[in-house]
Amino acid sequence: MKKNGSKRIIHPKQKKQVKPGQEHNMVPEPVFDNGFIERGSQLKGKVALISGGDSGIGKATAVAFTKQGCDVAITYLPGEKTDALQTQAYVEEHYGKRCLLLPGDVAKENTCVKMVERVVKHFGRLDILVNNAGTHYPKDSIAEISSRQLVKTFELNVFSMFYMVKAALPYLKAGASIINTASVTAYRGSAHLLDYSATKGAVVSFTRSLAASLVEKKIRVNAVAPGPVWTPLIASSMKPEQIKTFGSDSPMKRPGQPVEIAGCYLFLASEAASFITGQVLHPNGGEIING
Ligand code: NAD
Repeated sequence: MKKNGSKRIIHPKQKKQVKPGQEHNMVPEPVFDNGFIERGSQLKGKVALISGGDSGIGKATAVAFTKQGCDVAITYLPGEKTDALQTQAYVEEHYGKRCLLLPGDVAKENTCVKMVERVVKHFGRLDILVNNAGTHYPKDSIAEISSRQLVKTFELNVFSMFYMVKAALPYLKAGASIINTASVTAYRGSAHLLDYSATKGAVVSFTRSLAASLVEKKIRVNAVAPGPVWTPLIASSMKPEQIKTFGSDSPMKRPGQPVEIAGCYLFLASEAASFITGQVLHPNGGEIING
């Protein structure tokens, strides 16, 4: 096995991509569907809005939901249209569900309002909101984090969740589910992702607080905190040598594939999780989490 220092090289062919990254140009392409999530009717007749649903964890979640009878709307940045079209074609052709495409920047409140309105106009309802869009800009020291970067990271990773929930709430009925994407870095920190890990800590606290605030409306709010996952976010933001060994220092010595994370979202969205709110699931390859 080839090594880079003490780390195992897992992705020798992946070149550094321009942000926000393109799934269809990844080598190997992330795994977004497999037979372990079976077809069924757990989300039959429901509608989900998934931010950042064109690629990575959001795409695999869109696929898992449609396999269970859900129609989906996916948001993406306009530059990621190819990924979004491929995701739309995949779920429509394989699972016969509708996939509404919503280009736009979810860091802007009026964009979130318009996206929610389009979903409700198109499908007539909204049952599941997955706040998943996020980004990071790795830096070796806090001295390198500009105020602009700080604001951008918080606007996308945290503020967008407030905007989406505010816009969606009038349409969410008892039984609805909100799921936020956090990160293992919220719990163990990250020396090179100071601002990012701080946003993910905020996502955990927001999830717990929103769950308490919506429990009487019978709307459940939970989060998923993935460990390393092979997605365009990684190919477009890590250094070339980090991309090649990405995930090799997890307890399982590999990154997760998006499909291995999607089952958490499916579970939390479904009635199987009807007594669970304010909680975080940890698909991270074996890292033990406290708190
Ligand atoms: P990804 O690149 O596939 O997904 C990120 C998504 O965010 C993209 O679809 C992109 O369209 C969207 N996005 C980025 N900026 C946006 C903006 N301004 N407006 C609208 N959408 C925007 O990568 P991913 O790894 O699947 O990321 C999904 C989530 O998972 C993120 O919140 C990320 O922080 C989190 N996460 C990822 C990992 C990992 O190792 N990949 C680990 C823990 C948490």
